[in-house]
Amino acid sequence: MARSLPLPTWPNGADVGVSLTFDVDAEAGWLGVSDAYEDRLATLSEGRFGIVRGLPRILDLLAERRIPATFYVPGDTVERHTDAVRAILDAGHEIAHHGHRHLSGDRIDADAQRQELEQGLEAMRSQLGLRPVGYRAPGGRLTRTTFELLVELGFTYDSSCMGDDRPYVEEWGGSSLLELPFHWSLDDWPHFGWSLDAGAAGPADQSAFLNVWLAEFESALAERRHVTYTMHPEVIGRGYRMATLRRFLDVIDDTATVCYLTHRELAGTVTVTSPDG
Ligand SMILES: [Zn+2]
Repeated sequence: MARSLPLPTWPNGADVGVSLTFDVDAEAGWLGVSDAYEDRLATLSEGRFGIVRGLPRILDLLAERRIPATFYVPGDTVERHTDAVRAILDAGHEIAHHGHRHLSGDRIDADAQRQELEQGLEAMRSQLGLRPVGYRAPGGRLTRTTFELLVELGFTYDSSCMGDDRPYVEEWGGSSLLELPFHWSLDDWPHFGWSLDAGAAGPADQSAFLNVWLAEFESALAERRHVTYTMHPEVIGRGYRMATLRRFLDVIDDTATVCYLTHRELAGTVTVTSPDG
């Protein structure tokens, strides 16, 4: 179930809202799929590329454009690459929760789902001194159990669901939570992500990717709504793809006055009304 909300009005005469979000999966993105990846050094090294090359490139671009962004980070990444994650925080961006070991909620029991959330929170508290307010499910696999735990643990918003293309309230059982929706077409992984095991067709032409993202931007502009774009440092952080991201920002900034917000800021612009009005 879901409940619609009024569209936010954008500050300073902006025409449209955009959130750039980055899931910093690093090694956890693979290790969360299977422990067998512990011995797959080449695969793990691709996750590490996101930290070594992707993340600095992303932070440089965001600083140059003065764009605040939201980074969804597994606790494992916080512990494994603490300095790199601290650099995100020091640059003024939002850090949000993305599990601990990047385990898919639908493949683990209720106790393990609670552990994923609590260990991720503890990693952020102990290493960074912060308490995240937002959550995105690893692999987009949000379960009823995790949803109820998010409400119990006091999270402000989730960004795992696709029930609307505007911020809305996601409702399951008796629980409800602000949803800042994402979509697979607006995620870099289905366009460029590839693995030895998945048997996918292979990375897309970057111009096709650019066209999809621009087309969605134009539709959001026409409706004066908001779009969330989702990226992974190891995916978008390759040199030619960063050039495409830069071109994307050039075009949308030439087209309209864009209000860039973190998800936490977006949540602050949304008026969550009660079910009765
Ligand atoms: Zn992820």
